[in-house]
Amino acid sequence: MQPQFFNVINDELRGSEKTHAVTDPRTEEALWPCPIATTDDFQDAVTAAQEAFTTWSRTTVAERQELLVKLAKVLEDHAGELTEILARETGKSQILASIDVHASVSQCLYYSKTALEDEVQYEDENTRVVATHLPLGVVGAICPWNFPLILSNIKVVSSLITGNCVIVKPSPFTPYAVMKWVELSRGVLPPGVFQVLNGGADLGALMTLHPGIAKISFTGTIATGKRVMASCAKTLKKVTLELAGNDACIVCPDADLDKTVPSVASGGFFNAGQVCVASKRIYVHESIYDDFLSRLVKEVEGTYSIQEDHKAPSVFGPVSNKMQYDVVKGIIEDCKANGYNIVTGGGGDDKTAAAASKGFWLAPTIVSKPPEDSMLVKEEQFGPILPVLSWSDEEDVIKRSNLSNAGLGASVYSTDLAQAERIARRLEAGSVWINQSERPNFGAFFSGMKDSGFGGEMGKQGLLSYAYTQCLHFAKK
Ligand code: NAD
Repeated sequence: MQPQFFNVINDELRGSEKTHAVTDPRTEEALWPCPIATTDDFQDAVTAAQEAFTTWSRTTVAERQELLVKLAKVLEDHAGELTEILARETGKSQILASIDVHASVSQCLYYSKTALEDEVQYEDENTRVVATHLPLGVVGAICPWNFPLILSNIKVVSSLITGNCVIVKPSPFTPYAVMKWVELSRGVLPPGVFQVLNGGADLGALMTLHPGIAKISFTGTIATGKRVMASCAKTLKKVTLELAGNDACIVCPDADLDKTVPSVASGGFFNAGQVCVASKRIYVHESIYDDFLSRLVKEVEGTYSIQEDHKAPSVFGPVSNKMQYDVVKGIIEDCKANGYNIVTGGGGDDKTAAAASKGFWLAPTIVSKPPEDSMLVKEEQFGPILPVLSWSDEEDVIKRSNLSNAGLGASVYSTDLAQAERIARRLEAGSVWINQSERPNFGAFFSGMKDSGFGGEMGKQGLLSYAYTQCLHFAKK
């Protein structure tokens, strides 16, 4: 039987006259009809959330923590169903899709044990100042398509544990798993606390403008992030922006290549490169460049091949939608037009796999030493194509790694930990991974420098942006 999907407003399931269907990235067939929320649906959701907030905001942290455990149980109990839906809409293999579901369980459980606490900020014989944290109101969560559940859920659990209500707007490219998750969670929380609406840029823009929404937490491109911030300014909404990166990965001459090569391959090609903190520019020391490149090509051709069956245990997959497929194809075409050295992949004559007959597949592609100002190096590719550049001077590679317009993540590989740390501390990125590929940890604050973001999420620090800090000044005499 075909699954059905609904907007969830005040714990009720709502269809819509207007629907759309996502294109399955593996088969290019239309998936299931999905209702598009109307302006009235949106207004009803805001009203329900505002009403719910009056009592939900006064629940205790302990009560909310207990409910997060119940939400985790819903995810766990329906992991099979959610994994299957998520695999179909994103094009991910079952293994990759199940990571999205199970990491969301972990996020719920992490915040069921983590909360903001009151803190004495000052004390002398006359006064005692205690900082406490109050919820903001209704949070609008605007989400991207590459990890639909994890990236929505982090906004949901951060909102809930701090006493906010939340309306989630998934990406129209991947609405299904998030909508099903909110539907399945009905009854766990009071009506109006956790709602979902399906829609595109229009609905997102409405959310950023509505005076009944206190905060927007947005994850997506830099261009949209700038629009979101400008729009939120009109009502002085609180805003968190998690935006694009163009991560440098520095491989030092003493790196242990047996470990480094698979790790760099995973950094670049996990989920076909559709990871905000994927390794997107590889800088390898000139003295080991040739050895590294030939090993990387071998690793990538062996591990990241096209597997049309989504049950195959692969962490590689198609590009998730036609829009992004065209972007990545455009970058490959630019490399070809400029005569850059494509050492594997690149379509047509690729040696890694036969091109799949249907779907948004692109074989993993590696380009050796394209110019620093090429499209592939300058722009976020967000797909399975990786430039491998070389360096010989530490100052120079740090300078080239640090961009003026992005600073999300970076990685450094070296057996000399002092050198690795010295380089890491000079990289202008919100997170730097040493001797490992970029995997955000839900216990660690995650944020972008420069155009890669505004504020951040995750870890205890991430909760601060979901709360007002109020200082209570007690007279002691
Ligand atoms: P996008 O900016 O196109 O869309 C993101 C969301 O914004 C979608 O839900 C979309 O419907 C909505 N939207 C579009 N226009 C809007 C508007 N004017 N006002 C309000 N909402 C609007 O991004 P995408 O293509 O879905 O996501 C991919 C991008 O996200 C990549 O650049 C990637 O690096 C980035 N990303 C960043 C992080 C991070 O944590 N920093 C994580 C994942 C992805």
